Amino acid sequence: MKAYFDETQNQHHPKSYLTRGAMRSPQEVPARIPPLLAALKGLGVELDTPRDHGMNPISAVHDMGYLRYLESAHRRWPEDWGEEVMSNIYVREGNPMKGILAETAFYIADGSSPIGPNTWKAAYTSAQAALSAADDIAGGQRAAYAVCRPPGHHARPDAAGGFCFLNNAAIAANYLRDTYDKVAVLDPDMHHGQGVQEIFWERDDVLYVSIHGDPTNFYPVVSGYEDERGAGRGYGFNLNLPMPHGSSESFFFEKFDEALTAIRLFEADVIVVALGFDTYYEDPQAKVSVTSEGFQRMGKLLAQTGKPICVIQEGGYDVDHLEINATNFFEGLLKD
Ligand SMILES: [Zn+2]
Repeated sequence: MKAYFDETQNQHHPKSYLTRGAMRSPQEVPARIPPLLAALKGLGVELDTPRDHGMNPISAVHDMGYLRYLESAHRRWPEDWGEEVMSNIYVREGNPMKGILAETAFYIADGSSPIGPNTWKAAYTSAQAALSAADDIAGGQRAAYAVCRPPGHHARPDAAGGFCFLNNAAIAANYLRDTYDKVAVLDPDMHHGQGVQEIFWERDDVLYVSIHGDPTNFYPVVSGYEDERGAGRGYGFNLNLPMPHGSSESFFFEKFDEALTAIRLFEADVIVVALGFDTYYEDPQAKVSVTSEGFQRMGKLLAQTGKPICVIQEGGYDVDHLEINATNFFEGLLKD
């Protein structure tokens, strides 16, 4: 297995995080990366620079107006307003889209995704890491890992949110459709990946299965419920498995088994895993109690599917335990 990351990705360094009525310290920060890279080094996994696949695989899942906005927003933001592009106004319907502030009100969905001077470059490179990992899987490798930062599963076709700008997992999954007939996206991150859900909502060639905390009063709040099943041809190809807050590790693995069964019934050719370490019981975002050993079990269960596994990094904010949790996950995935 090879892994992909470039230092450009760490030039995205958010300074603000507005959530539940308070400005808090950003959690999706460059400090998350060194422990993940240390885990790879410890396991002897080769780390490579992402190859540039250009815009086409990105614009295949994202709206062009949104992409132009992301690329230009920081340049167009008056310096005396603040160092990051961030709105206190959120308007989708009836937005005249006149001026950078109105565009920001449309394209940025919440207070957790400020755009800094290097955010576009970082998000673009993060997506290229996902595509490079997908290339390995398309080329017949059993596993590949994109150390994606910023993460992606909350990014909608035309909106940033939840620390995410470009939907790395969806970009990789859609790209893998060039090679494989059926792609499953398994999302065991603590949060529902509403961006992945929205992108594949009407598709029956990509199955989205998400295990996450009950979205009632928990991000992304407005989606992630069981009755969201897809539409048209895609009806039944979206499976949400929310867990009550405070659920045990054994309950998490019941849901994980349910997810793997759904993927088996779908007869996926390949699994894209939107991997979050924020289910770890000490993570500031955790609403369930996965242990370090749990991540090894998760890796092992994925290996036992016999499917090629394309791992895309999503959340995980307990920096002190990212190295051991990543080490355990990849040991489980790669051993034997
Ligand atoms: Zn998360």
